[in-house]
Amino acid sequence: MNKEKKMEKLNKKMLACKKCALRKGCNQVVPGEGSANAKIMFIGEGPGKKEDDSGIPFVGAAGKFLDEMLNSIKLERKDVYIANTVKCRPPANRDPLPAEKETCWPWLEKQIKLIDPDLIVTLGKHSMEELILGKKISEVHGKFFRRDFSGLGNQNLFVLYHPAAALYNGSMRKVLIKDFKKIPKILKIIDKKKE
Ligand code: URA
Repeated sequence: MNKEKKMEKLNKKMLACKKCALRKGCNQVVPGEGSANAKIMFIGEGPGKKEDDSGIPFVGAAGKFLDEMLNSIKLERKDVYIANTVKCRPPANRDPLPAEKETCWPWLEKQIKLIDPDLIVTLGKHSMEELILGKKISEVHGKFFRRDFSGLGNQNLFVLYHPAAALYNGSMRKVLIKDFKKIPKILKIIDKKKE
């Protein structure tokens, strides 16, 4: 079975998930969007209202900003994969609870395993805290990490501020745009290491 077919199957399973209370309070599960063969996987926090209405991650203002930054490094959404730490919208856009993130982790783990990206980019503190332990985003944004996950093996990770947090904060916005532009260089280094 090719990766696309595997992803379809996985998405179907996610769409039927009722493992936590978030599913009762939202319209639909938002598994993720993009290429099953993506080299870069972006991981945000969780669906908001627009994502819950459409079933697609990052479609609101933060999503437009993310698209602009992707374009700035000559990429489009279809070239990458975009997912979230939780696949269901938390009520009133509150932060996902640690227990909710833990319950949803096996889905994210399966997505990472299937896509097998060269680089995972965390967007905001929630996905950073889930994938890189014990760090403060203000200290590690724009930095590269490597971590060995028990179920996933070694993964390359890069930390960014969340586009929604940076959208209306001039200085954070500048930092995010600058950090984002490091992605092609990091991918080149990763590619060289593979040779
Ligand atoms: N913010 C997120 O973290 N994820 C989305 O899908 C949309 C907004």
